[in-house]
Amino acid sequence: MLVVMQSHATEEQVREVCKRIESLGLKAHPIPGSARTAIGITGNDGAVDLGVLESMPGVIECIPVSKPYKLVSRDAKAEDTIVRIPTGSGDVIIGGQHVALVGGPCAVESEAQVMAIAERIAQAGVRLFRGGAYKPRTSPYSFQGLGEPGLQILAKARKNFGLGIVTEAIDHESLDLVEQYADVIQIGARNMQNFSLLKRAGHAKKPILLKRGMSATLDEFLMAAEYILSEGNYNVILCERGVRTFADHSRNTLDLTIVPAVKRRSHLPIVVDPSHGTGVRHKVLPLSRAAVAVGADGLLVEVHHQPEKALSDGMQSILPDEFAQLTEEVRQIAALLHRTVN
Ligand code: PEP
Ligand code: MN
Repeated sequence: MLVVMQSHATEEQVREVCKRIESLGLKAHPIPGSARTAIGITGNDGAVDLGVLESMPGVIECIPVSKPYKLVSRDAKAEDTIVRIPTGSGDVIIGGQHVALVGGPCAVESEAQVMAIAERIAQAGVRLFRGGAYKPRTSPYSFQGLGEPGLQILAKARKNFGLGIVTEAIDHESLDLVEQYADVIQIGARNMQNFSLLKRAGHAKKPILLKRGMSATLDEFLMAAEYILSEGNYNVILCERGVRTFADHSRNTLDLTIVPAVKRRSHLPIVVDPSHGTGVRHKVLPLSRAAVAVGADGLLVEVHHQPEKALSDGMQSILPDEFAQLTEEVRQIAALLHRTVN
């Protein structure tokens, strides 16, 4: 259910409507827009008595939302959500006209490795750095990440190079720590339907990068995001990272069709990860070009200075020089579409 306020409704009127909603035992989510504020209502299993809200000062109408998701939907908010990520070198902006790039290794392996790669990412003019301190691995015998010492290395890279840090939380415990160190908290594909983790992410004070599950439909993906918004965190960035199909020429099938599909249904920004999406180094550049051309709000790319020695995902990691070329090419493609890359 959505309560649509008049364009000239006062903040006081919005507050009163929220109060009334809460007094009915429901949750109110005011969603300010450039033209008007809408208030999403969640927590209602059955029908809500609309009459009482519709007659309140400042309210235009109450509309039932037929989609299973509400807060992530364009019905709730017509304009694109823009997520601002503070870094040591100014805010990085994702969404709307702004395309943001993220580069870095799959995993934090050592301080020397992170510093060597971070320097090259910053040199390419990119201000967001990725790298997992907690790695969800298919095999329990594979490298699981350095944990908190890895987060401390990332914090050092942040300080040395003015980078914002994107890093994954795999459970509640790691999320508590990642929230302290990171600028963006990544929830991985394997956790897209870890509902208790999504709820915890909804209470985090940092933006969330939510990766699509490897067999998730668009509705399931948006419902996972809805979990986060419904707990109060509206700074969610979706990430397409490929799905499992019968195709065996790549690790996953990068589903770029989901970008325009998300744009139609949701106001949330969506970035594309061509590294996990293809699993093959030489496919990363062409799919990055395609992702920006199709309207993605950013790219999440694995970069390693010594991919042959990487402890995870070396096969799909590109070299720093290749990353510099990639950023140059996608800047040109974005410019054609009147978008700026940051
Ligand atoms: C990653 O980004 O390193 C990662 C583990 O990705 P995904 O969750 O998409 O597999
Ligand atoms: Mn990886």
